[in-house]
Order: sequence, then structure tokens, then C-alpha cells
Amino acid sequence: MRLQVLGTAAGGGVPQWNCACPGCAGARAHPARARRHASIAVQTAERVVVVNATPDIAAQLEDCPWIAADRAAVPYVALTDAELDHTLGLLRLREAGELHVAATSAVRRALRPVEEILRPYAPIRWRPLPEAVTVSDKRPRYADGPGRGWVSALRFTDGGRTLVYAPAMGAWTPELEAACESADCVILDGTFWDDEEPRRTGISEKTATQMGHLPVEATMRRLAGLRARCLYTHLNNTNPLVDPGSGRHKVLEELGLEVAADGMVIDL
Ligand SMILES: [Zn+2]
Repeated sequence: MRLQVLGTAAGGGVPQWNCACPGCAGARAHPARARRHASIAVQTAERVVVVNATPDIAAQLEDCPWIAADRAAVPYVALTDAELDHTLGLLRLREAGELHVAATSAVRRALRPVEEILRPYAPIRWRPLPEAVTVSDKRPRYADGPGRGWVSALRFTDGGRTLVYAPAMGAWTPELEAACESADCVILDGTFWDDEEPRRTGISEKTATQMGHLPVEATMRRLAGLRARCLYTHLNNTNPLVDPGSGRHKVLEELGLEVAADGMVIDL
């Protein structure tokens, strides 16, 4: 199995169009610090799966050589959740003719309006999520209705190697722990460094955990105990890790953990 990291930022990207915080200003001054919305492409023996359809998806697919090698292939997208930063890109794929989209039933229901808009252009062929672990019941603000399965960690297995991808997770559940323990690579929610970050920076009145994102401080020691190669992704522009000069990088390095970078390729 081979994967390519297509983006590593939380909703809004880095820089975010209407923001001048230090993280966004730094990315404007130093374009190498810019991060597209979090996504990966996974190449298995069967097919290429793009995980999440971000607002950057067209540019992300341009930069992915496996997609470029077969432009006629029907895009296969797996969704971890129905948040706008992970689903807006479905509309951008309307030239496809048809789309294969794997998602939980809760996510499918929430995306009915998108499905209706796409129907005359690129009908969605729903596919079951192969291996998903529920990591949060936080539904998007625009969605209503009860139910579980709003946010999933996805597990990919190919050739005896296993990847766990969870760009959003609100709880470290026993099921997630079991999935991570048997994985060779884990790419996990690094939206916020600490729980107070959203309140301290004024972007929310909620803590990181209340927003559905366990902060890096709460997960890094657990990850350090795994045998898997572990990387953080989905960085918000408030996260000090968006600054390569931040001392927080050293903290992760000492624990043997990495921060994912746009464009990186991982062979498993
Ligand atoms: Zn910002």
C-alpha cells in the first residue's frame, strides 16, 4: 500500500482567506508553510481511494500522480464525516460522469442536498465504508437528525499492511485503540495543540474536545506507545505546529511522532 498526503489543514486551510492570525500571516509570508485541506489518496491493489473531498480537491488530484495516470477512472471517495471541509469537493467533481462515494448512513443522509444537486451531472453511487470505527457522534452544524456514525476513523488493509486515518476524533475509544495497535501507520487529528486553544485564540467558546477534536496534548503519549509510524494532520491555523520554528515540533520529535506535510508519500 502506498499513500500520498494531499493536504494537512483543518477547515479554512492555512492561510484561511479571511484570517490574519500569526499562522495565516506566516503562510502568506512563507508560501512553503501553506497547507491545503486535509486529505489523502490511498493506492491499494484494487484501486485509488481519495479520503474526503475537500474544497481543494481539483488541485489536489492534479498533484497526485496515480490520478494523473488514469484520468478516465471514476473517482472513488471515502468520507470520514459530512463536515463541509471534507465534502464540498464532491460538487467540484461534477465533470466525472458518476462518483463512487463510501460513507456511513448518517453521512449519506446529511449529504442528500449535495446528491440532488449532483444527480444531473455526476450521480453518486453509494458504497459501504470498508472498515470504519466511530470516533465521534458530533454532527455538522447544518445537519439534523439523530444517529451514530457521524465521524469515523477509516482502516485500510492491503498486502498485510494497515493504515488508520482519523482527521477528526472526539474520543479515544477502545475500538480506535485496537485499530491503532494493529496498524503500521496512523494519521490522526492534530487540529489543536491543547484543549484551551480555540477559546484562547477567540475562534470558539468551546474547548477543542467540545468541538470534537481531542488535542495533540491528549493523544501524543498514547501514539508514542504504538508500534506504528504516527503522524498528525488536520492542523488548524491556530495550532503552533503550523510554524516550523515552534518548539512544539521538538516535543513531538522526542516522542517519535511526526507532523504530516502536504505532498508526502508513505510506502507501507
Ligand atoms: Zn488564521
